[in-house]
Amino acid sequence: MTHRAQRTIAMSLCLLALLAVSLWLANGSAMLRALPEAVRIWRMPAVMELPVPVQGVRAKRIADTWGGARSGGRRHEGTDIFAKRGTPVTSATRGIVVRIGDYGIGGKHVWVLGPGGERHYYAHLDGWAPGLRQYRVVRAGDFLGFVGDTGNARGTPPHLHYGIYGTRGATNPYPRLHDAPAR
Ligand SMILES: [Zn+2]
Repeated sequence: MTHRAQRTIAMSLCLLALLAVSLWLANGSAMLRALPEAVRIWRMPAVMELPVPVQGVRAKRIADTWGGARSGGRRHEGTDIFAKRGTPVTSATRGIVVRIGDYGIGGKHVWVLGPGGERHYYAHLDGWAPGLRQYRVVRAGDFLGFVGDTGNARGTPPHLHYGIYGTRGATNPYPRLHDAPAR
């Protein structure tokens, strides 16, 4: 290998390392910035009356799907809210977006850490709200994504799977859902 080629490789490796470090710092600093707000939100009492997190869906149109049998002996740990594909999904609470992912039975999903340390799970999304980022602070009613059928809901009528996980595991969102205020 020529001296010149070695230098080029070394330079590329340096640039790559620099890029990795700056990416890590960018994400790390977003997390640090969100930390005080995360602590504030965590210490708030959990909100018992939650607006329906799918735009235009009335609470009385939702069925209690908690505990229904699912594949592999699982029980349904959430509420399914049916709506046309692409209907906006909105945050039920104030919170911090802690994870945005596309894998597993939930397909495209978002986790929001909310008051009382409850984690709110929005799954089977068709896609995410433009510009939605990890560690973003959201208010109740803020746009998270679109109703879809991703993950193990593929081919079923589009719906939002909405789950709430407290310190003692999954709790039923259904009794807490109320009509969202008009926006
Ligand atoms: Zn579900």
